[in-house]
Amino acid sequence: MKKKEVNLIFFQGILSELEQCDQELVNNAISSLKDAYAPYSGFQVGASILLENGKIINGSNQENVAYPSGLCAERVAIFYASSNYPNIKIIKMAISVQAVDFNINDVISPCGACRQVMAEYEENQNYPVQIILHSPNNDILIVDRVQDLLPFMFKSPHLKKH
Ligand SMILES: [Zn+2]
Repeated sequence: MKKKEVNLIFFQGILSELEQCDQELVNNAISSLKDAYAPYSGFQVGASILLENGKIINGSNQENVAYPSGLCAERVAIFYASSNYPNIKIIKMAISVQAVDFNINDVISPCGACRQVMAEYEENQNYPVQIILHSPNNDILIVDRVQDLLPFMFKSPHLKKH
């Protein structure tokens, strides 16, 4: 039996330390917070994607009284991107959060289902998607690829490589 190791490299800082274009992407995610439909959780999430063609796609979480029918901001944004801009590479995604009636003191990273979805698009496009996480107090955490958030992602044995 061999012992193996997965290394996680990430960057921590604050919003003002980011390059201007990355700050703009985060600001898009922050702007998207107001469009979240989250009357049940009071937890609002905004996700903004930068595509290879320079287009920015914004998403926010959309809840429903039938709880499982809602969708996280990350998947709203990435499904929109893939539907409207198929075969255009996703370069990075910024994710911001805020809560109506409780404090969030740290960045929030994507749920497991979103990680799986994001990881599959990353794998299909054969190009890493940088993830920029932003907290309400402007803390930033960055990973350079989705795979870092989901080692051993689920892969279909039937999926043909693009
Ligand atoms: Zn999610």
